[in-house]
Amino acid sequence: MVIVGAGEAGTAAAIALREGGWRGRVVLIGNENMLPYERPPLSKAILTEVTDPGPKWLATPERLAELRIDYLQGRNVERIDRAAHTVTVSDGDQLAYERLLLTTGARPRKLSIPASAGSRIATLRTYADALAIRRIIGRGCKVVVIGGGFIGLEVAASAVSRGASVTVLEAGPRLLTRAVPAAMADLIKAKHERSGVRIQTSAIVERIDENEGRSKVVLADRRTHLADIVVVGVGAVPNVELAQAARLAIHNGIVVDETLTTSDPHIFAAGDSCSFPHRLYDERIRLEAWRNAQRQGAAAAANMLGANRPYEDVPWFWSDQYDETLQIAGRCRPEDVAVARSLGAKGQLFFYLTPRGRLVAACGFGSLGAIAKEIRWAEIMIGRRLAPNPEALADPTVNIKTLLV
Ligand SMILES: Cc1cc2nc3c(=O)[nH]c(=O)nc-3n(C[C@H](O)[C@H](O)[C@H](O)COP(=O)(O)OP(=O)(O)OC[C@H]3O[C@@H](n4cnc5c(N)ncnc54)[C@H](O)[C@@H]3O)c2cc1C
Repeated sequence: MVIVGAGEAGTAAAIALREGGWRGRVVLIGNENMLPYERPPLSKAILTEVTDPGPKWLATPERLAELRIDYLQGRNVERIDRAAHTVTVSDGDQLAYERLLLTTGARPRKLSIPASAGSRIATLRTYADALAIRRIIGRGCKVVVIGGGFIGLEVAASAVSRGASVTVLEAGPRLLTRAVPAAMADLIKAKHERSGVRIQTSAIVERIDENEGRSKVVLADRRTHLADIVVVGVGAVPNVELAQAARLAIHNGIVVDETLTTSDPHIFAAGDSCSFPHRLYDERIRLEAWRNAQRQGAAAAANMLGANRPYEDVPWFWSDQYDETLQIAGRCRPEDVAVARSLGAKGQLFFYLTPRGRLVAACGFGSLGAIAKEIRWAEIMIGRRLAPNPEALADPTVNIKTLLV
Protein backbone atom coordinates (compact mmCIF):
# COMPACT_ATOMS: atom_id res chain seq x y z
CA MET A 1 0.00 0.00 0.00
CA VAL A 2 1.67 3.19 -1.19
CA ILE A 3 0.34 6.65 -0.32
CA VAL A 4 1.55 9.77 -2.11
CA GLY A 5 1.15 12.93 -0.01
CA ALA A 6 1.59 12.97 3.77
CA GLY A 7 -1.02 15.54 4.74
CA GLU A 8 -4.34 15.13 6.51
CA ALA A 9 -5.82 12.56 4.12
CA GLY A 10 -2.66 10.54 3.49
CA THR A 11 -1.77 10.20 7.15
CA ALA A 12 -5.35 9.28 8.12
CA ALA A 13 -5.28 6.63 5.39
CA ALA A 14 -1.98 5.13 6.54
CA ILE A 15 -3.29 4.81 10.10
CA ALA A 16 -6.64 3.42 8.90
CA LEU A 17 -4.90 0.76 6.81
CA ARG A 18 -3.31 -0.62 9.95
CA GLU A 19 -6.48 -0.23 11.97
CA GLY A 20 -8.30 -2.03 9.17
CA GLY A 21 -6.04 -5.03 9.66
CA TRP A 22 -3.59 -4.67 6.76
CA ARG A 23 -0.39 -6.48 7.75
CA GLY A 24 1.71 -5.87 4.64
CA ARG A 25 3.90 -2.86 3.98
CA VAL A 26 2.47 0.68 4.24
CA VAL A 27 4.58 3.44 2.66
CA LEU A 28 3.65 7.08 3.17
CA ILE A 29 5.59 9.48 0.94
CA GLY A 30 5.60 13.23 1.58
CA ASN A 31 7.55 15.99 -0.12
CA GLU A 32 7.68 18.29 2.90
CA ASN A 33 10.76 17.87 5.03
CA MET A 34 9.01 17.25 8.32
CA LEU A 35 6.54 14.95 10.04
CA PRO A 36 2.91 15.15 8.85
CA TYR A 37 1.10 18.09 10.48
CA GLU A 38 -2.30 19.81 10.61
CA ARG A 39 -2.88 22.86 8.38
CA PRO A 40 -5.80 24.64 10.15
CA PRO A 41 -3.57 26.06 12.97
CA LEU A 42 -1.34 27.73 10.35
CA SER A 43 -3.75 30.64 9.96
CA LYS A 44 -4.80 30.60 13.62
CA ALA A 45 -2.60 29.71 16.64
CA ILE A 46 0.68 29.74 14.69
CA LEU A 47 0.05 33.37 13.76
CA THR A 48 -1.62 34.60 16.95
CA GLU A 49 0.40 33.04 19.79
CA VAL A 50 3.15 35.20 21.24
CA THR A 51 5.59 32.29 21.00
CA ASP A 52 5.29 29.89 18.09
CA PRO A 53 3.44 26.80 19.38
CA GLY A 54 5.10 24.74 16.61
CA PRO A 55 3.37 22.35 14.23
CA LYS A 56 0.51 20.20 15.44
CA TRP A 57 1.69 16.75 14.43
CA LEU A 58 -0.64 14.23 12.86
CA ALA A 59 1.67 11.41 13.91
CA THR A 60 4.83 11.23 16.01
CA PRO A 61 7.82 9.08 14.97
CA GLU A 62 6.88 6.69 17.79
CA ARG A 63 3.32 6.30 16.49
CA LEU A 64 4.55 5.75 12.93
CA ALA A 65 7.00 3.11 14.18
CA GLU A 66 4.37 1.44 16.35
CA LEU A 67 2.03 1.20 13.34
CA ARG A 68 4.91 0.10 11.06
CA ILE A 69 4.26 2.93 8.62
CA ASP A 70 7.35 3.62 6.48
CA TYR A 71 7.38 7.38 6.20
CA LEU A 72 9.55 8.70 3.38
CA GLN A 73 9.99 12.34 4.31
CA GLY A 74 11.05 15.12 1.94
CA ARG A 75 10.65 12.88 -1.11
CA ASN A 76 8.58 13.80 -4.14
CA VAL A 77 6.85 11.16 -6.22
CA GLU A 78 7.77 11.97 -9.80
CA ARG A 79 6.04 9.30 -11.83
CA ILE A 80 3.46 6.53 -11.73
CA ASP A 81 3.90 3.55 -14.03
CA ARG A 82 0.41 2.07 -14.09
CA ALA A 83 1.37 -0.93 -16.20
CA ALA A 84 4.27 -1.94 -13.91
CA HIS A 85 2.44 -0.84 -10.70
CA THR A 86 5.39 1.27 -9.54
CA VAL A 87 6.04 4.84 -8.47
CA THR A 88 9.36 6.64 -8.96
CA VAL A 89 10.53 8.80 -6.08
CA SER A 90 12.72 11.93 -6.42
CA ASP A 91 15.94 10.08 -5.52
CA GLY A 92 15.27 7.65 -8.38
CA ASP A 93 14.01 4.81 -6.15
CA GLN A 94 11.15 2.77 -7.53
CA LEU A 95 8.49 1.34 -5.26
CA ALA A 96 6.02 -1.33 -6.24
CA TYR A 97 2.40 -1.02 -5.18
CA GLU A 98 -0.54 -3.33 -4.92
CA ARG A 99 -2.85 -0.37 -4.26
CA LEU A 100 -1.88 3.30 -4.63
CA LEU A 101 -3.54 6.27 -2.92
CA LEU A 102 -3.08 9.83 -4.18
CA THR A 103 -3.53 12.46 -1.46
CA THR A 104 -1.51 15.22 -3.07
CA GLY A 105 -3.67 18.08 -1.71
CA ALA A 106 -3.82 21.52 -3.25
CA ARG A 107 -1.58 24.59 -3.54
CA PRO A 108 -2.41 28.30 -3.33
CA ARG A 109 -3.64 29.84 -6.56
CA LYS A 110 -1.25 32.51 -7.86
CA LEU A 111 -2.30 36.02 -8.76
CA SER A 112 -1.80 36.67 -12.43
CA ILE A 113 -0.72 40.29 -12.11
CA PRO A 114 2.68 41.95 -12.45
CA ALA A 115 4.62 42.12 -9.18
CA SER A 116 8.08 43.65 -8.84
CA ALA A 117 10.85 41.50 -7.48
CA GLY A 118 11.32 43.50 -4.27
CA SER A 119 7.69 43.29 -3.13
CA ARG A 120 7.00 40.98 -0.20
CA ILE A 121 4.18 38.65 -1.23
CA ALA A 122 3.17 35.56 0.72
CA THR A 123 0.73 32.70 0.37
CA LEU A 124 -0.24 30.25 3.10
CA ARG A 125 -0.28 26.49 2.77
CA THR A 126 2.72 25.13 4.69
CA TYR A 127 4.23 25.57 8.13
CA ALA A 128 7.17 27.38 6.49
CA ASP A 129 4.69 29.82 4.86
CA ALA A 130 3.09 30.46 8.27
CA LEU A 131 6.46 31.15 9.90
CA ALA A 132 7.36 33.61 7.13
CA ILE A 133 4.10 35.54 7.76
CA ARG A 134 4.42 35.25 11.53
CA ARG A 135 7.88 36.84 11.50
CA ILE A 136 6.49 40.03 9.96
CA ILE A 137 3.03 40.63 11.38
CA GLY A 138 3.08 42.53 14.65
CA ARG A 139 2.35 45.89 16.23
CA GLY A 140 2.63 48.75 13.74
CA CYS A 141 3.07 46.47 10.73
CA LYS A 142 0.87 47.05 7.69
CA VAL A 143 -0.71 43.97 6.17
CA VAL A 144 -2.69 43.85 2.94
CA VAL A 145 -4.66 40.68 2.38
CA ILE A 146 -5.74 40.01 -1.20
CA GLY A 147 -8.84 37.81 -1.20
CA GLY A 148 -11.77 37.81 1.19
CA GLY A 149 -12.09 34.03 1.49
CA PHE A 150 -11.57 31.89 4.59
CA ILE A 151 -7.80 31.88 4.65
CA GLY A 152 -7.51 35.61 3.90
CA LEU A 153 -9.99 36.47 6.64
CA GLU A 154 -8.36 34.18 9.19
CA VAL A 155 -4.99 35.79 8.44
CA ALA A 156 -6.63 39.24 8.78
CA ALA A 157 -8.13 38.30 12.17
CA SER A 158 -4.82 36.87 13.38
CA ALA A 159 -2.75 39.83 12.17
CA VAL A 160 -5.05 42.44 13.71
CA SER A 161 -4.99 40.53 16.99
CA ARG A 162 -1.17 40.86 16.91
CA GLY A 163 -1.50 44.65 16.58
CA ALA A 164 -1.04 44.94 12.80
CA SER A 165 -2.98 47.36 10.66
CA VAL A 166 -4.90 45.23 8.18
CA THR A 167 -6.72 45.88 4.91
CA VAL A 168 -8.57 43.14 3.03
CA LEU A 169 -9.04 43.66 -0.71
CA GLU A 170 -11.74 41.51 -2.26
CA ALA A 171 -12.36 41.59 -6.02
CA GLY A 172 -15.97 40.40 -5.72
CA PRO A 173 -18.92 42.46 -4.55
CA ARG A 174 -18.81 40.85 -1.08
CA LEU A 175 -16.73 38.55 1.14
CA LEU A 176 -16.80 34.75 0.98
CA THR A 177 -18.61 34.64 -2.36
CA ARG A 178 -17.77 31.01 -3.05
CA ALA A 179 -18.77 29.45 0.23
CA VAL A 180 -21.13 31.48 2.36
CA PRO A 181 -24.54 33.07 1.70
CA ALA A 182 -24.62 36.86 1.54
CA ALA A 183 -26.48 37.34 4.83
CA MET A 184 -23.83 35.36 6.71
CA ALA A 185 -20.98 37.12 4.89
CA ASP A 186 -22.39 40.47 6.07
CA LEU A 187 -22.27 39.36 9.71
CA ILE A 188 -18.66 38.24 9.31
CA LYS A 189 -17.71 41.49 7.60
CA ALA A 190 -19.25 43.47 10.46
CA LYS A 191 -17.25 41.42 12.97
CA HIS A 192 -14.00 42.18 11.12
CA GLU A 193 -14.76 45.87 10.85
CA ARG A 194 -15.57 46.09 14.57
CA SER A 195 -12.19 44.49 15.21
CA GLY A 196 -10.40 47.14 13.17
CA VAL A 197 -9.91 45.42 9.78
CA ARG A 198 -10.56 47.65 6.77
CA ILE A 199 -12.42 45.81 4.03
CA GLN A 200 -12.71 46.94 0.43
CA THR A 201 -14.90 44.93 -1.91
CA SER A 202 -14.90 45.26 -5.72
CA ALA A 203 -11.19 46.02 -5.29
CA ILE A 204 -9.37 44.80 -8.40
CA VAL A 205 -5.63 44.61 -7.83
CA GLU A 206 -3.73 45.62 -10.96
CA ARG A 207 -0.11 45.25 -9.87
CA ILE A 208 2.23 45.23 -6.91
CA ASP A 209 5.25 47.55 -6.96
CA GLU A 210 8.18 47.83 -4.62
CA ASN A 211 8.31 51.16 -2.80
CA GLU A 212 11.29 51.93 -0.49
CA GLY A 213 11.33 48.46 1.02
CA ARG A 214 7.56 48.14 1.15
CA SER A 215 5.04 46.73 -1.28
CA LYS A 216 2.68 49.12 -3.02
CA VAL A 217 -0.57 47.47 -4.06
CA VAL A 218 -2.11 49.36 -6.97
CA LEU A 219 -5.83 48.94 -7.69
CA ALA A 220 -7.52 49.31 -11.07
CA ASP A 221 -9.22 52.50 -9.83
CA ARG A 222 -5.72 53.94 -9.03
CA ARG A 223 -6.07 53.68 -5.25
CA THR A 224 -2.89 52.35 -3.62
CA HIS A 225 -2.05 50.55 -0.37
CA LEU A 226 1.42 50.33 1.17
CA ALA A 227 2.20 47.11 2.99
CA ASP A 228 5.02 45.43 4.89
CA ILE A 229 3.57 42.16 3.66
CA VAL A 230 0.91 41.25 1.11
CA VAL A 231 -0.81 37.95 1.82
CA VAL A 232 -2.56 36.45 -1.17
CA GLY A 233 -5.50 34.14 -0.42
CA VAL A 234 -7.35 33.70 -3.70
CA GLY A 235 -8.18 30.01 -3.54
CA ALA A 236 -6.33 26.78 -4.15
CA VAL A 237 -5.73 24.52 -7.12
CA PRO A 238 -5.62 20.74 -6.75
CA ASN A 239 -2.26 19.01 -7.28
CA VAL A 240 -3.22 16.77 -10.19
CA GLU A 241 -0.07 16.82 -12.35
CA LEU A 242 1.21 13.42 -11.21
CA ALA A 243 -2.17 11.80 -11.87
CA GLN A 244 -2.54 13.65 -15.15
CA ALA A 245 0.85 12.46 -16.40
CA ALA A 246 -0.29 8.91 -15.58
CA ARG A 247 -3.38 9.55 -17.75
CA LEU A 248 -5.89 9.24 -14.94
CA ALA A 249 -9.16 11.12 -15.51
CA ILE A 250 -9.07 14.73 -14.25
CA HIS A 251 -11.96 17.14 -13.83
CA ASN A 252 -11.55 19.83 -11.16
CA GLY A 253 -9.28 17.37 -9.35
CA ILE A 254 -8.48 13.70 -9.73
CA VAL A 255 -11.73 12.06 -10.75
CA VAL A 256 -12.89 9.29 -8.40
CA ASP A 257 -16.15 7.37 -8.13
CA GLU A 258 -18.22 7.12 -4.95
CA THR A 259 -15.77 4.57 -3.51
CA LEU A 260 -12.87 7.02 -4.13
CA THR A 261 -11.46 4.82 -6.89
CA THR A 262 -9.84 6.67 -9.81
CA SER A 263 -10.22 5.66 -13.44
CA ASP A 264 -7.63 2.93 -12.61
CA PRO A 265 -9.09 0.32 -10.22
CA HIS A 266 -5.75 -0.03 -8.39
CA ILE A 267 -5.43 3.69 -7.69
CA PHE A 268 -7.50 5.72 -5.22
CA ALA A 269 -7.56 9.42 -4.36
CA ALA A 270 -8.82 11.43 -1.37
CA GLY A 271 -8.82 14.90 0.15
CA ASP A 272 -8.37 18.30 -1.49
CA SER A 273 -6.93 16.78 -4.68
CA CYS A 274 -9.97 14.74 -5.75
CA SER A 275 -13.43 15.44 -7.12
CA PHE A 276 -16.13 12.94 -6.28
CA PRO A 277 -19.83 12.24 -6.81
CA HIS A 278 -22.02 12.52 -3.70
CA ARG A 279 -25.46 10.96 -3.32
CA LEU A 280 -26.89 14.25 -2.00
CA TYR A 281 -25.87 16.34 -4.99
CA ASP A 282 -26.28 15.96 -8.71
CA GLU A 283 -22.85 17.35 -9.52
CA ARG A 284 -19.28 16.22 -8.86
CA ILE A 285 -17.77 18.09 -5.89
CA ARG A 286 -14.27 18.84 -4.61
CA LEU A 287 -13.87 19.99 -1.03
CA GLU A 288 -11.02 21.81 0.65
CA ALA A 289 -11.92 20.92 4.20
CA TRP A 290 -10.11 19.32 7.09
CA ARG A 291 -12.76 16.81 8.16
CA ASN A 292 -13.41 15.71 4.60
CA ALA A 293 -9.69 15.05 4.05
CA GLN A 294 -9.44 13.04 7.24
CA ARG A 295 -12.57 10.96 6.66
CA GLN A 296 -11.97 10.43 2.95
CA GLY A 297 -8.45 9.23 3.76
CA ALA A 298 -9.86 6.64 6.14
CA ALA A 299 -12.65 5.69 3.71
CA ALA A 300 -10.18 5.26 0.83
CA ALA A 301 -8.05 3.00 3.05
CA ALA A 302 -11.06 0.79 3.78
CA ASN A 303 -11.82 0.56 0.07
CA MET A 304 -8.17 -0.19 -0.78
CA LEU A 305 -8.69 -3.20 1.50
CA GLY A 306 -11.79 -4.19 -0.45
CA ALA A 307 -14.68 -2.69 1.59
CA ASN A 308 -16.20 -1.17 -1.55
CA ARG A 309 -18.20 1.35 0.52
CA PRO A 310 -19.42 4.67 -0.92
CA TYR A 311 -18.20 7.82 0.80
CA GLU A 312 -21.33 9.67 1.91
CA ASP A 313 -20.38 12.08 4.69
CA VAL A 314 -22.24 15.38 4.64
CA PRO A 315 -19.72 18.14 3.76
CA TRP A 316 -18.74 20.13 6.85
CA PHE A 317 -16.38 23.04 7.32
CA TRP A 318 -15.42 25.32 10.14
CA SER A 319 -13.46 28.54 10.36
CA ASP A 320 -12.42 30.56 13.40
CA GLN A 321 -12.92 34.30 13.13
CA TYR A 322 -11.71 35.94 16.36
CA ASP A 323 -13.55 34.37 19.31
CA GLU A 324 -16.38 33.13 17.10
CA THR A 325 -16.81 30.10 14.94
CA LEU A 326 -18.32 29.74 11.50
CA GLN A 327 -19.63 26.30 10.62
CA ILE A 328 -21.21 25.13 7.40
CA ALA A 329 -22.86 21.77 6.77
CA GLY A 330 -24.04 20.70 3.32
CA ARG A 331 -24.09 22.81 0.18
CA CYS A 332 -26.62 25.32 -1.05
CA ARG A 333 -27.47 26.79 -4.43
CA PRO A 334 -28.82 30.21 -5.36
CA GLU A 335 -32.35 28.84 -5.84
CA ASP A 336 -32.52 27.44 -2.29
CA VAL A 337 -34.71 29.22 0.23
CA ALA A 338 -33.01 30.69 3.31
CA VAL A 339 -34.58 30.43 6.77
CA ALA A 340 -32.94 32.52 9.52
CA ARG A 341 -32.81 31.46 13.16
CA SER A 342 -31.44 33.92 15.68
CA LEU A 343 -29.66 32.67 18.78
CA GLY A 344 -29.51 36.21 20.19
CA ALA A 345 -26.08 37.06 21.60
CA LYS A 346 -24.92 33.50 20.93
CA GLY A 347 -25.08 33.81 17.16
CA GLN A 348 -27.06 33.44 13.99
CA LEU A 349 -28.00 30.45 11.86
CA PHE A 350 -29.28 30.14 8.32
CA PHE A 351 -30.88 27.01 6.93
CA TYR A 352 -31.26 26.36 3.21
CA LEU A 353 -34.16 24.38 1.79
CA THR A 354 -34.69 23.37 -1.82
CA PRO A 355 -37.84 24.82 -3.44
CA ARG A 356 -39.45 21.43 -2.57
CA GLY A 357 -38.55 21.83 1.10
CA ARG A 358 -35.57 19.48 1.58
CA LEU A 359 -32.88 20.78 3.92
CA VAL A 360 -29.59 20.92 1.98
CA ALA A 361 -27.36 23.24 3.98
CA ALA A 362 -27.00 25.10 7.24
CA CYS A 363 -24.48 27.65 8.38
CA GLY A 364 -23.97 29.38 11.68
CA PHE A 365 -21.74 32.10 13.06
CA GLY A 366 -21.32 32.75 16.76
CA SER A 367 -20.16 31.06 19.95
CA LEU A 368 -18.75 27.59 19.43
CA GLY A 369 -20.97 25.86 21.99
CA ALA A 370 -24.23 27.16 20.52
CA ILE A 371 -23.34 26.87 16.84
CA ALA A 372 -21.71 23.43 16.92
CA LYS A 373 -24.75 21.80 18.53
CA GLU A 374 -27.30 23.20 16.08
CA ILE A 375 -25.14 22.50 13.02
CA ARG A 376 -24.63 18.93 14.19
CA TRP A 377 -28.41 18.32 14.20
CA ALA A 378 -28.78 20.07 10.87
CA GLU A 379 -26.06 17.83 9.43
CA ILE A 380 -28.00 14.73 10.46
CA MET A 381 -31.18 16.14 8.88
CA ILE A 382 -29.31 16.95 5.65
CA GLY A 383 -27.87 13.41 5.53
CA ARG A 384 -31.35 11.94 6.02
CA ARG A 385 -32.82 14.20 3.32
CA LEU A 386 -35.44 15.56 5.73
CA ALA A 387 -37.81 18.40 4.94
CA PRO A 388 -38.31 20.12 8.31
CA ASN A 389 -41.01 22.71 8.86
CA PRO A 390 -39.43 26.12 8.02
CA GLU A 391 -41.38 27.88 10.76
CA ALA A 392 -40.05 25.48 13.36
CA LEU A 393 -36.52 25.93 12.00
CA ALA A 394 -36.86 29.68 12.36
CA ASP A 395 -38.19 29.50 15.92
CA PRO A 396 -35.33 29.44 18.46
CA THR A 397 -37.67 28.09 21.14
CA VAL A 398 -38.06 24.86 19.10
CA ASN A 399 -35.30 22.37 19.87
CA ILE A 400 -33.86 21.39 16.47
CA LYS A 401 -33.38 17.83 17.68
CA THR A 402 -37.16 17.42 17.79
CA LEU A 403 -37.34 18.07 14.03
CA LEU A 404 -35.39 14.90 13.32
CA VAL A 405 -38.46 12.72 13.55
C1 LIG B 1 -3.89 27.80 6.35
C2 LIG B 1 -5.00 26.79 6.25
C3 LIG B 1 -6.04 26.81 7.16
C4 LIG B 1 -7.07 25.89 7.07
N1 LIG B 1 -8.09 25.95 7.97
C5 LIG B 1 -9.13 25.11 7.87
C6 LIG B 1 -10.22 25.18 8.77
O1 LIG B 1 -10.26 26.03 9.65
N2 LIG B 1 -11.24 24.30 8.62
C7 LIG B 1 -11.24 23.34 7.64
O2 LIG B 1 -12.21 22.57 7.56
N3 LIG B 1 -10.21 23.24 6.77
C8 LIG B 1 -9.16 24.09 6.86
N4 LIG B 1 -8.12 24.01 5.98
C9 LIG B 1 -8.16 22.98 4.92
C10 LIG B 1 -7.52 21.67 5.34
O3 LIG B 1 -6.34 21.89 6.04
C11 LIG B 1 -7.28 20.86 4.09
O4 LIG B 1 -8.55 20.57 3.54
C12 LIG B 1 -6.52 19.58 4.35
O5 LIG B 1 -5.23 19.85 4.83
C13 LIG B 1 -6.40 18.77 3.06
O6 LIG B 1 -5.70 17.61 3.31
P1 LIG B 1 -5.02 16.79 2.12
O7 LIG B 1 -4.33 15.65 2.77
O8 LIG B 1 -5.98 16.57 1.04
O9 LIG B 1 -3.92 17.78 1.52
P2 LIG B 1 -2.62 18.44 2.21
O10 LIG B 1 -2.85 18.60 3.69
O11 LIG B 1 -2.33 19.63 1.40
O12 LIG B 1 -1.51 17.33 2.00
C14 LIG B 1 -1.00 17.01 0.73
C15 LIG B 1 0.47 16.71 0.88
O13 LIG B 1 0.94 16.04 -0.28
C16 LIG B 1 2.20 16.58 -0.65
N5 LIG B 1 2.46 16.24 -2.05
C17 LIG B 1 1.86 16.74 -3.16
N6 LIG B 1 2.36 16.15 -4.28
C18 LIG B 1 3.29 15.24 -3.87
C19 LIG B 1 4.14 14.34 -4.55
N7 LIG B 1 4.15 14.25 -5.88
N8 LIG B 1 4.99 13.58 -3.82
C20 LIG B 1 5.00 13.66 -2.46
N9 LIG B 1 4.20 14.50 -1.76
C21 LIG B 1 3.35 15.28 -2.45
C22 LIG B 1 2.00 18.06 -0.37
O14 LIG B 1 3.20 18.78 -0.30
C23 LIG B 1 1.31 17.98 1.01
O15 LIG B 1 2.25 17.84 2.03
C24 LIG B 1 -7.06 24.91 6.05
C25 LIG B 1 -6.01 24.89 5.12
C26 LIG B 1 -4.99 25.81 5.21
C27 LIG B 1 -3.87 25.78 4.20
